[in-house]
Amino acid sequence: MIVMKFGGTSVRDGEAVERLVKIVGRNSPQKTVVVVSALAGVTDSLIKIARHAAKGQAGKAMNLPEEPDERHLDMTDESAVLISGLEKRHLEMAEKLLDGNEELLSETTEIIKQLFTKLKEIVRVISVLEELSDMSMAKILSYGEILSSSIIHRAMLKSGLRCAFADARSLIITDGKYLKGEPQTDIICRKVPELLEREFRNNDVVITQGFISATADGIGTTLGRGGSDYTAALIGMAANASEIQIWTDVDGVHTTDPRKVNKTRSISVMSFSEAAELSFFGAKVLHPATIQPAVERNIPVRVLNSMQPDRQGTLILRDDEVHENGVRAISFKENITVINVFSMKMLNAFGFLTRLFEVFGKYGISVDLISTSEVNVSLTVDSDTSLDGIVGELSQFAVVSVSRDKSQVSVVGKNLKETTGLAKRIFGAVSDYNITMISQGASDINISFVVNKSDLTAVVSALHREFFEG
Ligand code: ADP
Ligand code: ASP
Ligand code: MG
Repeated sequence: MIVMKFGGTSVRDGEAVERLVKIVGRNSPQKTVVVVSALAGVTDSLIKIARHAAKGQAGKAMNLPEEPDERHLDMTDESAVLISGLEKRHLEMAEKLLDGNEELLSETTEIIKQLFTKLKEIVRVISVLEELSDMSMAKILSYGEILSSSIIHRAMLKSGLRCAFADARSLIITDGKYLKGEPQTDIICRKVPELLEREFRNNDVVITQGFISATADGIGTTLGRGGSDYTAALIGMAANASEIQIWTDVDGVHTTDPRKVNKTRSISVMSFSEAAELSFFGAKVLHPATIQPAVERNIPVRVLNSMQPDRQGTLILRDDEVHENGVRAISFKENITVINVFSMKMLNAFGFLTRLFEVFGKYGISVDLISTSEVNVSLTVDSDTSLDGIVGELSQFAVVSVSRDKSQVSVVGKNLKETTGLAKRIFGAVSDYNITMISQGASDINISFVVNKSDLTAVVSALHREFFEG
């Protein structure tokens, strides 16, 4: 049994879904779980819709729909425009894919219309209340994946595949953090095999949604942005899959983000640790938590290109199966914030760092890089959320300054500590730029530092030239 996950770009339109159906079909009759994301851009739109709605009537003056009807009256107009755009996009996709099969098409059209009626109701309530809880946001976000999977399920049926539909909210059970639920693996490991055993009796494929999940008592949650990869890995772990395939819009993990640098190349084999470090330090190609469940069961993960399915892609294997040392890839986080904490009291004081980290812990914000001197601690965080609260609390016992417009660059590879002359090559390549907060990862597989955001492209390009070009 294998798991195939198709990201937003791999289901962006009718043609992309036709490619997906072919890819899944090639694999039949091997049993396959297909995990799909929302169509590209839909999750972003749903977030916008929800936030606009929460402003109540504030958005009223903007972008009136071309033909406003009474259904739109209670919603903020921007939300209404976005929602009708989404509805049209999904209906058109269904028409394209299911053309020629009246029964499947009318059934799907009906489902899409019902889902949008429900979504509009929720959005209307939010705009009346002018209040958006995480719980409501998770509910709204679930529509993206439910819509895409409902359409793709029927496209598979139309192609003749024996395919069942499963609602991920009855499989992927999390705690009550609505927007970044913590998976309850023991329950997932019970539910997934139960369902698959049942469905695979009469089907070769089971399609479900990535990203969306629920608490044990059925309240909708999500696994956090980009979480569909995580769903695929959790299902792969629970079902003891022989392989997890992440189908995306690039042929595997590259030496750096191909959207940033032109001459990147695909890495054919890499270790779990390298892949985990790369994604943790910014490479969007995999969700940071994906690797964990796969490592636990030693399931190979393959990253493949749905636009060019015959390309080799990247195979991610157990650490002891990968022998290549040295720099493998460069990742980065474009927007990070550096917090500098200065306190004379820190000198010879016990418990200062404990107190400091307690503040970050209280706000649930994780720190990426840290560097310390006798009286100074600098930390990087990759979100602006809760920053005011954190700075306020730290200011009670230290002098705090915040630098925005910074980026973090990480050079990732195996046994970097043992690679002689590496620091000279890295810092030689970027000697024209201001570099701060250099940190060699405790894991020995990354060296990270902070640069000005305006220098990021130049720094990543220079490093890429040094290690991978020529
Ligand atoms: P999906 O919709 O399939 O989940 P994502 O947009 O989440 O796709 O991830 C794929 C993108 O990740 C690529 O288009 C690429 O721009 C980006 N990316 C960042 N770093 C890397 C890397 N090292 N290798 C490949 N892709 C990367
Ligand atoms: N649709 C979700 C997102 O855009 C999950 C995913 O695509 O992995 O974040
Ligand atoms: Mg993704």
